Amino acid sequence: MPGYSLSDSKDTHQRRGELMPYTITPLLVGVRNVDQGIMTYQQGYGKRIWLPMWAFLLREKGGEGRTVIVDTGLEDFVNPPEFIEDTGLEALFMDEALEQQGLTANDVDAVINTHLHDDHCGNNPMFENTPIYVQRAELEACLHPHPLDYRYEPSFVEDLDVRPVEGDTEIFPGITLMATPGHTPGSQAVKVETEDGPVVITGMCCSGENFPENGPAICPGVHCDAFSAYDEIQKLKALRDQGATLLPLHELSLAGKTIG
Ligand SMILES: [Zn+2]
Repeated sequence: MPGYSLSDSKDTHQRRGELMPYTITPLLVGVRNVDQGIMTYQQGYGKRIWLPMWAFLLREKGGEGRTVIVDTGLEDFVNPPEFIEDTGLEALFMDEALEQQGLTANDVDAVINTHLHDDHCGNNPMFENTPIYVQRAELEACLHPHPLDYRYEPSFVEDLDVRPVEGDTEIFPGITLMATPGHTPGSQAVKVETEDGPVVITGMCCSGENFPENGPAICPGVHCDAFSAYDEIQKLKALRDQGATLLPLHELSLAGKTIG
């Protein structure tokens, strides 16, 4: 057939709206010991919890075979002996975590930052030749932070291939960024199509505790606008009620799982 090529066939595939499913593997790339109130606004204060930092490894089945990382974890941390004793888990540095998956930073086609707090983008400089997708409002917050928010550093974005997006955007077939401001000015959830249905990485710092079986979701404990953070987390809960799987950014029980 004249003009036929593999890429033509892929384009047709995408035009027809066929979804390229992904698998999602959370990689443990940091840990902190914090107060529960950091996660759940006005609830649980005084209780210490282990807070895992995940880099979510997305691998496309078929299609372009893309490899995407959502969040890049803490640049530097220690594994407290009590964490290993309590959980049997050990956080890895980002390059070690990738190596365990048979990957290097060069194999990653795109990075998405849910937001630019240090526990979600500390290893961005490892991906100097990789497009990094972040909401424009978040980029502004990182470069011109409010004095109350000390967790932004220009090095998370400077001299990198940052691609600012505005609002809800499908960046690849099967991966849609969803603006969920409130935790930070430009935090974004990531909706990923998998063979098990849609999966939403929450984008705001929370855990399973924020999503009780009954009643409204609990506002994130950290926010720049509590009302907006509350409203956005209710939208995430509504997606779960409609059948989506939620992956809260700091949920410990994601360890060792692959979704999709
Ligand atoms: Zn966080």
